[in-house]
Amino acid sequence: TVSRLRPFASTIFAEMTALAVEHDAINLGQGFPDTDGPVSMLDTARQAIADGLNQYPPGPGMPVLRHAVAADRLARYGLDHDPDSEVLVTVGATEAISAAILGLVEPGEEVLLIEPYYDSYAASVALAGAVRRTVPLVRSGESFAVDLDGLRDAVTSKTRMLVLNTPHNPTGTVFTREELEAIARLACAHDLLVLSDEVYEHLVFDGRTHTAIATLPGMYERTVSVSSAAKTFNVTGWKIGWACGPAELIDAVRTAKQYMSFVGGGPFQPAVAHALTHEQQWVRRLRDSLQTKRDVLYDALVAAGLEVRSGGGTYYLCADITGIGEHDGIEFCRNLPARIGVAGVPVSVFTDHPTKWKPLVRFAFCKQDQVLDEAARRLRALG
Ligand code: PMP
Ligand code: GLN
Repeated sequence: TVSRLRPFASTIFAEMTALAVEHDAINLGQGFPDTDGPVSMLDTARQAIADGLNQYPPGPGMPVLRHAVAADRLARYGLDHDPDSEVLVTVGATEAISAAILGLVEPGEEVLLIEPYYDSYAASVALAGAVRRTVPLVRSGESFAVDLDGLRDAVTSKTRMLVLNTPHNPTGTVFTREELEAIARLACAHDLLVLSDEVYEHLVFDGRTHTAIATLPGMYERTVSVSSAAKTFNVTGWKIGWACGPAELIDAVRTAKQYMSFVGGGPFQPAVAHALTHEQQWVRRLRDSLQTKRDVLYDALVAAGLEVRSGGGTYYLCADITGIGEHDGIEFCRNLPARIGVAGVPVSVFTDHPTKWKPLVRFAFCKQDQVLDEAARRLRALG
């Protein structure tokens, strides 16, 4: 393995999922749902295969999906993307993220990450030969807030891009409009590009709203917004994602993407287009059911004696294990499947300051009620 990729040899998700399988534990580590997406979407995919849509789709993605993505963003955010030049279909959000960094950041330029960060950001920055600078979130009551002064201090003459992720994995934090406005002002003041990972855009709870940073003044022209079908329609295995933004930026993402996968997921593209157009009600019900599941997990973690942080959106809650006499999340997560038959993931692996995040553990609640209830019962036994 080349030196710049050596720190990324194995992902925490692979490690914890393997442990969960070994101990037949309930896997609240890797975030994936255990139920299917809307029936009409699954039927559309089956039909697409039967109809012979099994060869390479067009490079930028099938027009029907690009139009559906553009219409969806117009309806929900008032953003008017040209489906032909400003929407690119990718192999999941993961490819959109890598391709955006590879296509837009020169080797040696700096990329700002907010920590803890989704693991693929740091690896993608390394792939590009760029340099990451990370700014930790700070505590704010039960939740987390962006350290705006820290971000400002981290900007240098070499900073090219800031990667933003709200709703935030792994903490579940939904950044406030005020925080996003402050980030937007910083990006404009220093002429930064923003890569906005919005894969959990629909999964916000308790009446919160997701603000797409591209809607803020001065931001459309400098933002690549990324999302995917995975978390919106319960199809993490389909790997259908997209990047949206001004034509010039999307062209750079497309240039990189065409040599990564060229294209992907042919028959799934019309199915996701169908779901975006016809299944918004299904998505709202998904969100409401996830909010209830969040509450079930929250109560169990509190009953176990853990201090729970955040929980405004996504699939995840973070808990501090100090209250039960533990202090090392990595060790705790390595033992948990054998100990009580539940798997989680340590938050410190998503950071460059592991000591600071050592006692935090992430649990996913995107599971069927009976599975989550059983996990909750097992977690309570920790207390
Ligand atoms: N970004 C975040 C924040 C994620 O949690 C994930 C995992 N779903 C991804 C990107 C990757 O998305 P996809 O599965 O569509 O590649
Ligand atoms: N996005 C999911 C998570 O954060 C799964 C990621 C993965 O398996 N690469 O758990």
